[in-house]
Amino acid sequence: MGKVIVIASGKGGTGKTTTAAALSSALAAKKYRVLCIDADVGLRNMDLCLGLSEMALPNFCDVIEGRVSLDEAAFQHPSIPSLYFLSAPSLVSPEEIDPEKMRELLDSARRSFDFTIIDSPAGIGSGFRLAARFADSAIVITTSDVPSCRDVQRTVMELRSLGIEDISLIVNRIRPKLLKKSNQNVDDIVDTVGARLLGLVPEDHSVILSANNGIPLINYTTRGAAAAFSRIAGRLLGERIPAGEIKPIL
Ligand code: ADP
Ligand code: MG
Repeated sequence: MGKVIVIASGKGGTGKTTTAAALSSALAAKKYRVLCIDADVGLRNMDLCLGLSEMALPNFCDVIEGRVSLDEAAFQHPSIPSLYFLSAPSLVSPEEIDPEKMRELLDSARRSFDFTIIDSPAGIGSGFRLAARFADSAIVITTSDVPSCRDVQRTVMELRSLGIEDISLIVNRIRPKLLKKSNQNVDDIVDTVGARLLGLVPEDHSVILSANNGIPLINYTTRGAAAAFSRIAGRLLGERIPAGEIKPIL
């Protein structure tokens, strides 16, 4: 049975969509069958990070309402063959989606894919709960700023109240000089959030350039943030990979 992982954070803009796209691609590049689901209902933008914005993409409501099967709907990535994608519906609110049908969708995803990665919307409201409640584990994303850490701490509590115990943390957009100036270190962030550290991702303009150019990050570069996400994918697979030093890129 495959594993369903939700990517969450309290705050918007911390890098959930970037992480969901990059981790899905990195796992698929290691030949695992991966389904990436954009669950940011109404504000979807995962298609941009995966370089699929020009494509006609089925959304996960097409599957849960029975219009197509998961196998028919899951869109195979043209340059990463074991990566499949389901978009978010743009004209539906999360409250209109039957959670039981979401559970059925994820159960069949577990049978067909090694990993299902769900990109959650910001906040801890109904969209977040729909995305998270049937996941097996969660990865929370924070930047180093204090409001983001506090929001993700709250998100960790919400995830636990949904019954998710396996929660790990990625600190994204790290700028070593900024950490030094704020007298902060990664241990402080891990302590605040209360989840085990899965990885560190540097601030890297390749993330923005790759999305703007419609190229998945791991196809755009093998350095910086792309290398960090590949290491994180390895760690998710149980490989013992050191965190790696975060060197200033900008
Ligand atoms: P969220 O899904 O949490 O709202 P996004 O993944 O959409 O966040 O990221 C928000 C913005 O930050 C995007 O413009 C993205 O390109 C940028 N970004 C995310 N991670 C990084 C990074 N490590 N370095 C530079 N820019 C980043
Ligand atoms: Mg997003």
